[in-house]
Amino acid sequence: MMKHMSDIDLTNKRVLIREDLNVPMDKGTISNETRLLAAVPTIKQALSQQAAVILVSHLGRPTAGKYESKYSLLPVANRLGQLLNQDVQLIKDWHQGVDVQPGEMVLLENIRFEAGEKSNDDELAKKLAALCDVFVMDAFGTSHRAHASTYGVAQFAPMACAGPLLIQELDALQKGLKNPEKPMLAIIGGSKVSGKLQVLHSLVNQVDKLIVGGGIANTFIKAAGFRVGQSLHEPDLVEEAKQLIDKAKQAGNEIPIPEDVVVATEFSADALAEVKAVDEVADNEMILDIGPKTAAFYAYIAKQAKTVVWNGPVGVFEFPQFSKGTQLLAEGIAEGGGFSMAGGGDTLAALAQFGIEDNISYISTGGGAFLQVLEGKPLPAVTILEQVADR
Ligand code: AMP
Repeated sequence: MMKHMSDIDLTNKRVLIREDLNVPMDKGTISNETRLLAAVPTIKQALSQQAAVILVSHLGRPTAGKYESKYSLLPVANRLGQLLNQDVQLIKDWHQGVDVQPGEMVLLENIRFEAGEKSNDDELAKKLAALCDVFVMDAFGTSHRAHASTYGVAQFAPMACAGPLLIQELDALQKGLKNPEKPMLAIIGGSKVSGKLQVLHSLVNQVDKLIVGGGIANTFIKAAGFRVGQSLHEPDLVEEAKQLIDKAKQAGNEIPIPEDVVVATEFSADALAEVKAVDEVADNEMILDIGPKTAAFYAYIAKQAKTVVWNGPVGVFEFPQFSKGTQLLAEGIAEGGGFSMAGGGDTLAALAQFGIEDNISYISTGGGAFLQVLEGKPLPAVTILEQVADR
């Protein structure tokens, strides 16, 4: 059992809160602030108890040990300040300690600028722990990573507990996945391929239909015997994709292969989009969306589903000419009205873009963590909180 932040008296305590403030950015501006809005209640709760709040988060994937202004949390500090109606100072150099008074808050600069963050270095974890009396892990979206600011710090802090957002996310997912109403549909898309095939292995036995999109779909298209040209895909995993197709059949489920796709010869906002049958992709082309026939079919499946879990867009939705597939699918989910859960930064951005956020039953701030819960695997940041609960 983890300790909960709500059970601890935070008055005049130095409270280090790990949030997931990793918002999508577009040329220096925040393009979707779901994660900030989700973190605000936790921060307010701590401030209202007169805690001296020190926030820590990562943003994007900078090179470890190197400061790069494009990954600075400054826009996030400014926006949080507006949302909380309070000054939020960004601290670049905090190794020797930070000056923060009860009822005030500061934000540490992107923790992934630190060399030891992703390697879960003990020295960095101890420095973080030394900043606080209580460590609050609230970053559900990063809880599948054992990093210095999500795992190590919990080992060394005087006290470590789970924040309200983390608890809310875990409860919601458990409830949604416990006895899902059938038919159940899972949609796994996006650009990250590695790691996502594992989740398919466990989902294939749980769901009735599995729609794959983006880079994973391309790997499956290849596994089904079609050419994918320059498309993002993983040649090494084609065999595994074949096994998954068979596994799905044996389980009486299906992983549909798109019958048509939208291709281009370059990955850019003004690339010329062309609809092609899946067996017509040329060697110089890349698949950037599902085609209209496939999108209509997927939307139909989504409408029939009584439970939908969704992570990852099925096309490059940021560019209008490759956004239709994701949009039709999203609208299918919204119209179907079954119980739906969606997670992942880009998935949330897509939902916002198509204006259907309100039609989704539960929106998770997690992408990888969301998938890991779907897989039934423990989250390292949660495991450590359970281990140190008696401190
Ligand atoms: P992820 O972070 O793994 O959820 O991936 C989200 C990203 O996948 C979005 O930025 C999409 O533009 C991108 N994406 C979706 N489909 C494709 C595709 N077929 N080829 C390349 N990128 C894609």
